[in-house]
Amino acid sequence: MYNLLPFRFTRHNGKEILVNEVGDYLIAPTGTARRIADKEIKKDEDLYKDLINWYFISETPIPELIDLLAVRLRTKKAFLNNFTVLHIFVLTLRCNQNCIYCQASSHECHESTYDMTRETMVKAIDLMLKSPSPSVTMEFQGGEPSLMPELLLFAINSTEQKNKDHLKEITYVLCTNSINLTDEILGICVCYKVLISTSLDGFKLLHNHNRGKSDSYSNVVKGINKARAVLGFDRISALMTASEQSLKYPKEIVNTYLENGFHSIFLRALNPHGLASGFGNWDEYYDRFVNFYKEALDHIIELNKSEILFIEEFTALILRKILTPFSIGFVDLQSPSGIINSVVVYNYDGYVYASDESRMLAEHGDYTFRLGHIGDHYDSIFYGEKAQRIAMIWANETIAGCSDCAFMNYCGADPVRNHSTQGDMYGFRPTSTFCKKHKKIIQHLFSLIIEREEEVLPIFKRWIKNSKG
Ligand code: SF4
Repeated sequence: MYNLLPFRFTRHNGKEILVNEVGDYLIAPTGTARRIADKEIKKDEDLYKDLINWYFISETPIPELIDLLAVRLRTKKAFLNNFTVLHIFVLTLRCNQNCIYCQASSHECHESTYDMTRETMVKAIDLMLKSPSPSVTMEFQGGEPSLMPELLLFAINSTEQKNKDHLKEITYVLCTNSINLTDEILGICVCYKVLISTSLDGFKLLHNHNRGKSDSYSNVVKGINKARAVLGFDRISALMTASEQSLKYPKEIVNTYLENGFHSIFLRALNPHGLASGFGNWDEYYDRFVNFYKEALDHIIELNKSEILFIEEFTALILRKILTPFSIGFVDLQSPSGIINSVVVYNYDGYVYASDESRMLAEHGDYTFRLGHIGDHYDSIFYGEKAQRIAMIWANETIAGCSDCAFMNYCGADPVRNHSTQGDMYGFRPTSTFCKKHKKIIQHLFSLIIEREEEVLPIFKRWIKNSKG
């Protein structure tokens, strides 16, 4: 007689997907989970060996290889090892575009009251360098941070200077719409190896519709090409955001990325924050987004079958969780949640927030995820009362709905989204659009793996190897 180890399962098209505590999965006929639980699996069945080998059952009350299982769990949670890695600095709320879904509540170009001061920058850098992590990413955001070239240079120079005492490995990232990539900005990027992350929503008409200023598309493409010429082709990556209008054009958007020389795309849904929160029916939007995602993914798979390496980055992140023993750095798919553990935001006004979405809520008068001020002690910000309160409900393993979900290992916890869409940080999974989107996408990836294994698995493995995640 064997002993049960923790596992979760779900039914899918006449099969069961069984997932163990560290995210290994087995596909088995319907009824297998019940047979395992009723201890009906016989020693001479092939399944018995698989269940032993993959830690679904054990012949001893404590499995002989428990230490190995512990190592596997530690590897899966390795993103927690060094605490906060991503430090976002909001240089200004000013912006030179008017995106219809703007989540940062940006302001017109002349409103300098929304700029970060040098004093604030210095204190925020000090906090970043107190992070226990030996490597950190310093990401400049806005508004549009390229409107603040002097502050950008000051920030990097100060960090380089101060880091002589800390010796951290620092990666700089400039999140820009690319329409103001002046020689001055690119000079800074060359000098300090700054990576550029930009936004390209699709073909000209669509991009211009989303980004709200006339012919933003031509300016962005010009900026991308200028940056590639100066910094190198792969130093600039792009993200798309799917407005309601975008959902009609999955293939066309992917093709625009190909035409512009990109080898990957990140299909990103709108988040219900900032100006985007006034948007119509979110439930319907996410249903449509999932259909959009599936169509785009199918198109991308077809491209890869004709020997083009083109990656859908969100898929690659989930696949890494499903198909490898490793953890990922993407904050939306972490449990415990990526907020504070992996990311923190220093806002232009000196307040510190748990995530980018948290500071966007604050722009609308909701300070729930404000952790403190740059003048406060590091411990009171990162380990203080507020952080502790959030920490009580930030792990999928402990919250109702997620703790028994078969996809728990592949998903993430998002107390900020729960709070902003459902009114409390704990959230309610049956009506959560975050849950709905993730569940449907993970389910879809499993159907591809189960039903089109030979066709998609080699492609998916290539994505994992080549993706940025
Ligand atoms: S959010 Fe939904 S899909 Fe994700 S782990 Fe929780 S219940 Fe599962």
